[in-house]
Amino acid sequence: MRIVRSAADLPRGGEIGLVPTMGAFHEGHLALLRAARDENQIVVASLFVNPAQFGEGEDLERYPRDEERDARLAEEAGVDVLYVPAADEIYPPGFETWVEVERLGSILEGEHRPGHFRGVATVCLKLFNIVRPRRAYFGQKDAQQVEVVRRMIRDLDLDVELRVLPTVRDADGLALSSRNALLTPELRERALALPRALQTRDPQRARELLDGIDVDYVEVADFEPKVLAGAIRVGSVRLIDNVPLKGADE
Ligand code: AMP
Repeated sequence: MRIVRSAADLPRGGEIGLVPTMGAFHEGHLALLRAARDENQIVVASLFVNPAQFGEGEDLERYPRDEERDARLAEEAGVDVLYVPAADEIYPPGFETWVEVERLGSILEGEHRPGHFRGVATVCLKLFNIVRPRRAYFGQKDAQQVEVVRRMIRDLDLDVELRVLPTVRDADGLALSSRNALLTPELRERALALPRALQTRDPQRARELLDGIDVDYVEVADFEPKVLAGAIRVGSVRLIDNVPLKGADE
């Protein structure tokens, strides 16, 4: 596996599968990497903690980072190229062009994290243009992100196939997230209320089960597939999760 820090050194030609990530790999990331390995000639994983998708007062500074471990896990998963751009390669001085998925980007997560999906859509479009993948891999864990990227691909006629993989969970039901590393055992116990609530697949019952927890929202979202989605705060950690409401169970 090659670690590439400049777009000029990326592979050209061949059928490329791209897995965009912010690193701190867990089994959720590895499932995407393995699927990309199965389906493409060349697998590129990007590792970039995108400052544009973090709001003021969010956890950009303390977001977990461990490039060495990520590189080892990526190589084991069959990644050909780990693309680790410098922030000023993605956002050169004077950068001022943004992708705004207007309505989809402003509801639910977007309401609680203004500007988040503008940062997500913009970095994804840039990564698609830089890496030129045939397929791009995303997790259902971030259902609204999938919906935003799907809408951008359609609206802007992007020539990339969106591949979505099911949410990977720990044995206790908590969806894997790089942010779980920030949870103390007590906070983790509280966090388990979220998957338990969503499993009811009933927004009213879910809200009842989350009584006493700091809830940003628990709502049915008319995505593809329709999901019951929620976001909570435990201590200073904010967690999101969702369950599909019909069709393939996760
Ligand atoms: P991140 O590094 O958090 O930006 O995530 C990179 C990709 O991994 C995104 O497409 C996420 O949706 C996906 N992902 C994160 N956690 C999980 C999970 N528990 N199961 C499946 N995919 C996940």
